[in-house]
Amino acid sequence: MSAAQQTIHVGGEWRAAVSGATREIIDPVDANVFAVVSEGDVADTDDAVAAARAAFDDGSWPRTPAADRAALLRRVAGLLERDRERIGALESRDAGKTLEEGRVDVDCVRDAFLYFADLLAAESGGRVVDAGSDDIHSVVVHEPVGVCALITPWNYPLLQASWKIAPALAAGNTFVVKPSEITPLTTVVLVELLMEAGLPLGAANIVTGPGATVGARLAEHPDVDLVSFTGGLVSGVKVAKAAAEGVKKVALELGGKNPNVVFADACATDEGFDTAVDQALNAAFIHSGQVCSAGSRLIVEESVRERFVTELARRAERIRLGRGTDEGVECGPLVSAAQLAKTEDFVASALREGAVLRAGGEKPEGPGFFYRPTVLDHCHRDMRVIREEVFGPVLTVETFTTEDEAVALANDTEYGLAGGVWSADTARARRVAARLRHGTVWINDFHPYLPQAEWGGFGKSGTGRELGPTGLAEYRESKHVYENLAPRPVRWFAG
Ligand code: NAD
Repeated sequence: MSAAQQTIHVGGEWRAAVSGATREIIDPVDANVFAVVSEGDVADTDDAVAAARAAFDDGSWPRTPAADRAALLRRVAGLLERDRERIGALESRDAGKTLEEGRVDVDCVRDAFLYFADLLAAESGGRVVDAGSDDIHSVVVHEPVGVCALITPWNYPLLQASWKIAPALAAGNTFVVKPSEITPLTTVVLVELLMEAGLPLGAANIVTGPGATVGARLAEHPDVDLVSFTGGLVSGVKVAKAAAEGVKKVALELGGKNPNVVFADACATDEGFDTAVDQALNAAFIHSGQVCSAGSRLIVEESVRERFVTELARRAERIRLGRGTDEGVECGPLVSAAQLAKTEDFVASALREGAVLRAGGEKPEGPGFFYRPTVLDHCHRDMRVIREEVFGPVLTVETFTTEDEAVALANDTEYGLAGGVWSADTARARRVAARLRHGTVWINDFHPYLPQAEWGGFGKSGTGRELGPTGLAEYRESKHVYENLAPRPVRWFAG
């Protein structure tokens, strides 16, 4: 076990929690402690917000020219490239993902920094508004919102942090980030890299600690101007309520219950069938299904159901679980004992409600929080496993016979984060995609995202968007500056 690391960063200094408390970080592969971090609470949060406030108010970062802010983001991207192996391995261990996934995450984080640097560089300042008179010069400019509280989950710790930190800094804000208490390590490293890249002291602060104290305090803190939260629905609602008291700007990126709709025509050729099955596996089981956009609901045309599910189950059974850095391992464990228990509970309840187990459905022998990739056939809308997010390696199967039925099933969720459509008929695929009430729709694919394209959800999957131009706009205030070049009395009042 390592000695306790000082993981709270306030005003440019690394320090332990004011209370001296620490937290053990558990390796999900063997349930052993592999790191110890500072366990901050309200006092540390208040210090961090004060530091972010002071750094914002002194203008050192907000007034840094856009070109220099873009240059800093590019330096961070370079440092991520330099430390790719180290950070990828740390993410793999902390979150229980394969080493390759850890590396890809670092690449995606680098790309987010580069994208927002490019976006800044492409801007040309304010937007001149035609006020209808040569005597009026009217311009809309964008300014940073202020102090941002950035609260992130454990499944993609570094990636989710970067989707907030990169645009927040690009726009000229200062921030306090609170990573998940389960997986804080790579966010600590990211803050180290930001400082190494030359960010002014106090612009980037991190408090490691629990949601109920650090997160809740950030959401309600009077000196926080914006809260961007990624996590579960229940915590998201608490954050939104707390932030509403102070009329803060709030962005919520919440869960999903994402449909993957497969039409029989997508399976008409052997190649098409193989691709659709292969991608359905990816959609559901990457990172053991701990993905907000996991394609956890397979909605397949009845005529191909048996063939499709048989092949899917056969391949799911063959997925190799293990430590993410070991050769040949394809999937890691769940992140925690609690997540494992939750998954077991969902599967048990689905079986009680009539689902048919086609693959998995158990924890393999041995230590750690592993759970076998699971396929549950004959599921229907009234089951808890269809309505609620499992966030584990559990794929449910529903069927349809008409296009309208497929669309109705896919939209029958209170969430609306992402969905996939598989069809060899382009017109049909586009027609269905147009009717899906989800923030991202993939046609004949699943999971890719682009930093240039907005990410976020309809319905209870959240408010606001990350990435794309909107992902930057979220961190800005618009200000209209109206200048009268020939001022005269208006004589509204006669006296
Ligand atoms: P969570 O809601 O338990 O925790 C998320 C973060 O919020 C953590 O840092 C936690 O400490 C903090 N938190 C908890 N209670 C809080 C409170 N009352 N006030 C302030 N902060 C609080 O979620 P999780 O289990 O870490 O992550 C899994 C969830 O995240 C899933 O629902 C998943 O779908 C969602 N997610 C969504 C996206 C997206 O882009 N929409 C991406 C990744 C994960």
